[in-house]
Amino acid sequence: MGINIELLIQVVYFGAAILFILGLKAMSSPVTARRGIVWAGIGMFAATAISFTYPGMHNYVLMTSAIFVGGVLAWWTGKRVAMTDMPQMIALYNGMGGGSAAAIAAVELIRLSAGGELTHSGPVSQVLAVLGALIGTIAFSGSLIAFAKLQGWMRKVYRFKGQQLFNMVVFAALLYFGWLLTGDSFGQNELLAFFGLALLVGVLMTIPIGGADMPVVISLYNALTGLAVGFEGFVLQNPAMMIAGIVVGSAGTLLTQLMATAMNRSLGNVLFSSFGTGDDGGGGGVEVSGSMKAIEAADAAITMAYAETVIIVPGYGMAVAQAQHKVWELTKVLQDKGVRVSFAIHPVAGRMPGHMNVLLAEAGVPYDLIYDLEDINSQFPNADVALVIGANDVVNPAARKDTSSPIYGMPILDADAASNVFVIKRGQGTGFSGIENLLFFEDNTRMCYGDAQDVAQKLIAGVKTL
Ligand code: NDP
Repeated sequence: MGINIELLIQVVYFGAAILFILGLKAMSSPVTARRGIVWAGIGMFAATAISFTYPGMHNYVLMTSAIFVGGVLAWWTGKRVAMTDMPQMIALYNGMGGGSAAAIAAVELIRLSAGGELTHSGPVSQVLAVLGALIGTIAFSGSLIAFAKLQGWMRKVYRFKGQQLFNMVVFAALLYFGWLLTGDSFGQNELLAFFGLALLVGVLMTIPIGGADMPVVISLYNALTGLAVGFEGFVLQNPAMMIAGIVVGSAGTLLTQLMATAMNRSLGNVLFSSFGTGDDGGGGGVEVSGSMKAIEAADAAITMAYAETVIIVPGYGMAVAQAQHKVWELTKVLQDKGVRVSFAIHPVAGRMPGHMNVLLAEAGVPYDLIYDLEDINSQFPNADVALVIGANDVVNPAARKDTSSPIYGMPILDADAASNVFVIKRGQGTGFSGIENLLFFEDNTRMCYGDAQDVAQKLIAGVKTL
């Protein structure tokens, strides 16, 4: 009895779709996240493997070579990438997804322009192919710019007078060519103009955005990539692609919303107005009075060892210093002295959502010591010590106090409410948004200068001697 290939393909795609959804669900908790990634990976492997049996798929050499090159590059870069470089890695991979969706659309539309047919012809298919091409291409070039910015290759924020009007004109031209492509008489020139303009829109949209808004932008491009993949899945009538695209698109949209809320920014505000001055070299927006007062690690250790409650606020600097293991060691020596230690995590601490959770999990910090902003903020007034480790923007009271501050309104961790605040950082450097931090000048704040790992080691030694 022969195998019904069509049925087998549909069954495998269905199974893959279930694995994607279950995988995503499992990724929502650090306890099950690793399992979720494995499930989604198995789903993707099965969907890719079964595609080799798809009717009309004959170019096995090209398919295998593409998988080999992509697989080796992804494996190699995935193994090598430092935790601190993860956001740009995500931007890059995301760009590849958008580019792939756009490439599928390009192949379909080129065939159509040469008098051929779409894989599944029909007006809806054609409109979705064009929409997917538009969104995927914008996500592709936009993500590459986001990558260059996060990698430090493009430090400037490019702004010029009349920029928004210029962008709107370019976008209108793109829509015009897109509309032409939904008709039945277009050629290579229209296609070239369309894809060229879409690439340009992605670049133009991203170059004026800088500083702390980049995570929201990457997440937005992620949602767009999902949408583009979903549309092209419809064009190819490939259910696994459609479902994967919809899952990525909706997860990306929710994440975009969540991050914009965590920064107290609307999406329109992120895309169309400047934020902070970190990348454009301007001055900070906050007037500060008072001075920063330094403290030796040994003295800070004494206060901490005799404290009842210590709340640790990790930030980007902890990731740079790879101090998470020392921080966990410090936690344990404090616990041995009877100190209650907990961790306060801001949703955008570090350089990607969940950055701190991943580092702390890697170091072995139990999940029940780790609290989200809304769960821990009320605890700061009762804390004897707030230990800020390489965090800056996420504890800046300017967000509460200074209506002229670019971060005004952003929810922050209320570390300043603790009886004593110790801040570990190397020097006078500002945070990602580039503005001065009012917390560092407060009466109850002491600066413990140095690399986070070195200072954590000194604190451990200090606590141990008591
Ligand atoms: P910040 O970027 O605001 O501050 C990091 C601090 O770490 C700096 O003050 C720096 O000061 C210090 N630091 C750097 N290296 C070390 C080191 N080796 N040892 C000790 N300290 C060090 O970090 P936060 O986590 O507070 O805030 C995150 C910021 O990044 C927010 O503005 C957020 O919007 C943005 N962002 C967040 C993303 C996300 O999704 N999480 C993605 C992209 C941006 P010094 O140089 O003096 O040492």
